[in-house]
Amino acid sequence: RDTLDKAKALLQSQNTPFRLENFVNGAHISESAVEYIDSVDPKTGLVFCKVPCTQPEDIDAAIHSAKAAFPAWSKTTRAERSALLRRVAELIKKHRELFAAWESIDQGKTLERARVEVDRAIANFLYFSTFILHQKTAARMIDEDAALTYEHRSPAGVFALISPWNMPLYLLTWKIAPCLAFGCTAVAKPSEVTSVTAFLLSSIFNKAGIPKGVINIVFGDGPTTGAALVTSPLISGVSFTGGTATGIAIRRATAHQIGKHLSLELGGKNPTLVFADAYRDSIEQECTVRTAAMAAFQNQGEICLCGSRIYVENTIYDQFVCDFIAHVNETFVIGRTVGAVASRAHYDKIRGYLRLAEQQGAVFKLGGVPKELGAREGYWIAPVVLTDVLPSSRVMKDEIFGPVVTISRFYSEGEAIRLANDSEYGLAAVVLTSDGARMRSVSEQLEAGMVWVNSWLQRELGTPFGGMKASGTGREGGEYSRDVFTVVRTVHLPA
Ligand code: NAD
Repeated sequence: RDTLDKAKALLQSQNTPFRLENFVNGAHISESAVEYIDSVDPKTGLVFCKVPCTQPEDIDAAIHSAKAAFPAWSKTTRAERSALLRRVAELIKKHRELFAAWESIDQGKTLERARVEVDRAIANFLYFSTFILHQKTAARMIDEDAALTYEHRSPAGVFALISPWNMPLYLLTWKIAPCLAFGCTAVAKPSEVTSVTAFLLSSIFNKAGIPKGVINIVFGDGPTTGAALVTSPLISGVSFTGGTATGIAIRRATAHQIGKHLSLELGGKNPTLVFADAYRDSIEQECTVRTAAMAAFQNQGEICLCGSRIYVENTIYDQFVCDFIAHVNETFVIGRTVGAVASRAHYDKIRGYLRLAEQQGAVFKLGGVPKELGAREGYWIAPVVLTDVLPSSRVMKDEIFGPVVTISRFYSEGEAIRLANDSEYGLAAVVLTSDGARMRSVSEQLEAGMVWVNSWLQRELGTPFGGMKASGTGREGGEYSRDVFTVVRTVHLPA
C-alpha cells in the first residue's frame, strides 16, 4: 500500500491513541522513538494521538537525506518543479475533507474554518508553482566599459521549516511550497501540539512524484527536536513562524553560523483603530463592527494577525462598545462559530491573563474568567471583551493569542497612532475610517508590517508578509520568499 493509504488507515483505526511516524527519505519511519508527546483533542480534552519526540540522531538522518537530495533537485527545471507542486496541490484538494476534519480535531478550530485553511494550503502550492515560471532576470550593461553585469540566483540549500499550532497546515505549506519551488530541499517540523495534518501531507509527496529526500517531515518538541534541527551546520537557512521568545532563542543558538539565513515570523499584539468617520450611517456602522469583531475573534483569536487591542474615537466609544458586544454575542457562538482553544497549556495561559484583568479592576463587558479545568474537559473559552484596562497592564502589553479583546478610547488622530504604536510588537494593524486622506496618513505612520484599511486578512501572496519590531525579521511571499530560499551572486563579464 502507498503512504497515503497507510496514513488513512492509521488515522481511521480504532486503536487510539495512534502513533505518528516521521517521513524521511520518502518513507514513514516506524521505529519507536524514545519518547512520545500526547496530542489532545481540544474539544474533549482526550488524548487521541502520540507524537514522536524525535531525537538529535534521527534529525541528523533526516537532514542528511535532504542534503543528499539537494544536488539533483536544485538542478531540476522550473517547469518540472512546477508540475510536481501542482500535483501536490491536486492531491490535497482531492482529500480536502480528510485534511479539514483532522485539522479541526487536532487544533480545536471549527470545521468551516479548517476548510478555509486547507484551501489556502492548496493555494500556497498553486501560487509558488506558477510564480517560478514567471521570474525575470536582472541584467544590465555598464555603459562606460560595456561590461555586462547580471544577477545569478541559485537555490540556497537545505532548510529547516518550523511552524506553530494555530494554522498548522496552512503555515507549514507557506514554507514548504516556496522552499521546494525555488529548488531547495527541507526538513520540516510542525508544532508538537498539532502534527496530524503534517503527517497526512507527508503521505502524499510520493504519490505526487516528489523525489525521495526532497522534503522530510519530523515531529517533536522545540527544545529537543527543533533546536537540533535549526543548529545543524548542514542547514543553510531557517524559515520559522512562532513566538518571539522562540525566535530569539533560534537567533541566539545560530548566532555563530553567520551565513545561515533566518526568516523569523513572530508574535503580535495588533491594534484596530476605529475612527468616528467610520460610523456615519447604519450600513457603515455594521461594516465597521463586523470587521473589528472578525479581526478580534476569528479562529478564537488564535491568528497572529488578530486585532486584540481596539481603540475607538471618544465620540462614538459608547455606541461602538454596545454594537460590538451585540454583534459578538450574536455571531461568535461557542461550538458553532467558535472552536476550542488549542491546548490545556494555552487555556491556562488565557485564564491567567483574565484573572489578572479581574484583579486589576478591568470591566468584563462580555465573557468572564473561565473555570479551572478538570483533567478530561474541553478547552472552551467564550469571547471576552474588556474595557478599563490600564495601558501598562500585561493584559494590554502581552500577546494573549486567544478570544480576548480590550477596548479603549482615543481623542485625536495623533493619540490613536501613539497608542497603536505603544507596543513592542509590530505585526499588523486595522484602520477603520471613511476619510481617504486619513487612510494613507494613518496607515503610513503605523509601526506594523501589514495594515488593513476597512478590511482584515485579505491576502495577495506576492505581497511582503512579516513584522516590524519584535514581530520578526525578514519578509515572505512571492519574490520575498525567493530572497529567503535563494542565494544571489553578481557576475561581471568584461566587454
Ligand atoms: P512557539 O514559538 O512556542 O513554537 C513554534 C514552533 O517552534 C513549534 O514547532 C515549536 O516546537 C518550535 N520550537 C520551540 N522552541 C524551539 C527552539 N528552541 N528551536 C527550534 N524550534 C523551536 O509558538 P507557538 O506557541 O507554537 O505559536 C504561537 C505563536 O506563533 C504566537 O506568538 C503567534 O503570534 C505566532 N505566529 C506568528 C505568525 C506570523 O506569521 N508572524 C503566524 C502564526 C503564529
